[in-house]
Amino acid sequence: MPRIALFPGSFDPFTKGHEDIVLRGLQLFDEIIIGIGRNANKQRYFALEQMVGLIEQTFRGYPAVRVVSYDDLTANVAREMGARFLLRGLRNTTDFEYENGISQVNRFVYEDVETVFLITSPHLAPISSSIIRDLHRYGKNVDAFVPYKLETAGY
Ligand code: ADP
Repeated sequence: MPRIALFPGSFDPFTKGHEDIVLRGLQLFDEIIIGIGRNANKQRYFALEQMVGLIEQTFRGYPAVRVVSYDDLTANVAREMGARFLLRGLRNTTDFEYENGISQVNRFVYEDVETVFLITSPHLAPISSSIIRDLHRYGKNVDAFVPYKLETAGY
């Protein structure tokens, strides 16, 4: 049975930290599905379709990686896609507190799902999507933080 992992997140935007988790995850899994969760209550900064395209472009040379977007409980999506693993990155204790809770809930929804955490590579640990959004919003070039080209905001 192929080992399929779902890597769920908002990816608003997808960063070099996320890319690192996927590339390292490929050592563990036969297939990684990057799942962008749609959240009706949360307004995105980068359009969902744009981010799907940019992530696809990033992993063009990797047939074991694909990108989906979803509007459901993450654990339900994993079950439907035949993914027995959820892949998540851990940067610090704040991430840990949050991840600890959601991994329990995910097993409540889908008892066979196992969350696998990769500790962030130290040089990528300071990267967060929210900081990139702020830099971009005020016209800063964010090439250092994302694995694709983004137009700078028009300021
Ligand atoms: P969410 O909104 O679900 O937290 P994110 O898109 O912010 O989604 O993050 C998705 C996953 O990537 C989470 O497990 C998060 O901890 C991890 N992550 C975020 N930034 C980094 C980084 N710089 N390095 C490694 N993992 C990261």
